[in-house]
Amino acid sequence: MKILLDGRWVDRDEKINVTDPFDNSIIDTVPKGTTQDAETALAAAVSGFEITKKMTVYDRAQILFKAAEIISDRLEEYAAIIAREGSKTIREARKEASRCVNTLVASAEEAKRILGETIPFDSFPGGEKRRGYYYRFPIGVVLAITPFNDPLNLVAHKLGPAVAAGNSVILKPATVTPLSAIKLVEAMLEAGLPPKAIQVITGYGSKIGDVLVSDERVRMISFTGGVEAGKHIAARAGIKKIGMELGSNSPVIVWKDADLELAVESCVSGAFWAAGQNCIGVQRLLVHRDIYDQFKTSFVARTKQYKIGDKMKEETDMGPMITETEAKRVESWVNDAVAKSAVVLTGGKRNGALYDPTVLENVPPDATIHHEEVFGPTVNLYPVDDLDKAIKEANSLPYGLLAAIFTSNVDVAFKAAYDLDCGGVMINDSTDYRLDSMPFGGVKYSGLGREGLKFSLQEMTEPKVVCFNLPNI
Ligand code: NAD
Repeated sequence: MKILLDGRWVDRDEKINVTDPFDNSIIDTVPKGTTQDAETALAAAVSGFEITKKMTVYDRAQILFKAAEIISDRLEEYAAIIAREGSKTIREARKEASRCVNTLVASAEEAKRILGETIPFDSFPGGEKRRGYYYRFPIGVVLAITPFNDPLNLVAHKLGPAVAAGNSVILKPATVTPLSAIKLVEAMLEAGLPPKAIQVITGYGSKIGDVLVSDERVRMISFTGGVEAGKHIAARAGIKKIGMELGSNSPVIVWKDADLELAVESCVSGAFWAAGQNCIGVQRLLVHRDIYDQFKTSFVARTKQYKIGDKMKEETDMGPMITETEAKRVESWVNDAVAKSAVVLTGGKRNGALYDPTVLENVPPDATIHHEEVFGPTVNLYPVDDLDKAIKEANSLPYGLLAAIFTSNVDVAFKAAYDLDCGGVMINDSTDYRLDSMPFGGVKYSGLGREGLKFSLQEMTEPKVVCFNLPNI
């Protein structure tokens, strides 16, 4: 595939192979973008904004509706690309492709709700005879940097609202999974987006990132990825808006009055979805001691039923991690925990990039897998007795994206909803639940700002006040 610069798809001699992590076969190649390409993208994005800022809301919305229709009509094709280049099974990939359709539709709908307000200028002395309002205008060039784990829908979460707002975009997709992102851009162009409205540059973030991030022509960076890259980018961004969707170490409390079958089913899926490479994946399960043994037995039994292997087979529940290096990292974190007292209840084995769904207990606080984001198919069980202590434990780490609780007691649910320190609390669902239009984001190292189309549109537009002094009225 090619990159899109200044309205044209262009190729480069130097390429990056895009491989299927299941069998290491090469699916395609993309150009290895250079700093000169980044400069071209920046200049072109500025002229692209001259076009997008003049487009009507109707036109912007129509493009997004049409792009959604194109993807919906070719859902299987999009799902196959997601599944081949990344970690997801074909069933997981289909779900992502249909969520992308929703994300684009909701972006189009929200484009029509970018509202302002009238301002009561006469509310203090000195404001007499003034009448006015504010409206929201597009922020300008948005730099969208995206991760590998949802290679289509998380790109749509940036392109959808950016186009809805009237911005131009420079997209830097994840180095390992650029194909779904490029296919999304193709759908947008086919739907009528002016080619100069969007630049797509592939390559290594470490090589081209700084040129893009630090440039003053970029008015907003919308970043989804890990904390380390997030910190690096924030340190170089200068004076521009930054939206950061980062990682987490999601806690789920299972209280003694929970529907156990529901809790087990949701948490197994939440722990092992996309081979655990999911920012809201379940990592810490804090289970009431009265039901701990029962929960553990069913959770381990359900985990053992998971079929792992070929992503393209309908019956496969979980595919490989994104690279063998990542699977080796998870293996070393599990070994570190075991050396420090943890017990492997099931899993704990690696075969290339495949890492078995793994359940641990007795994980001590100094184990890396306890306090860092594992981003892999492992989950830790901890017994808890007291709700305050369970919430304190859930809040004890420097992350806070989503948290969850299973309970049938409304008082317990309310307390958890208010005291868990995070961007969202799921009651009777695992942390792995997201509606694409809900406000989504985290506190502490989990991020800055919120996505979810209405909320992304607030971040990607700015209010402009208009005040008429009317001495003759
Ligand atoms: P990553 O941080 O390695 O990379 C993310 C993107 O940043 C990639 O496109 C990468 O090329 C780019 N990048 C890296 N260094 C850069 C630099 N110096 N300048 C500019 N760009 C740079 O993350 P990843 O491994 O692709 O994704 C996994 C991480 O993303 C996890 O931590 C996960 O929790 C997080 N994530 C968060 C959310 C969320 O919505 N909060 C969603 C998905 C993933």
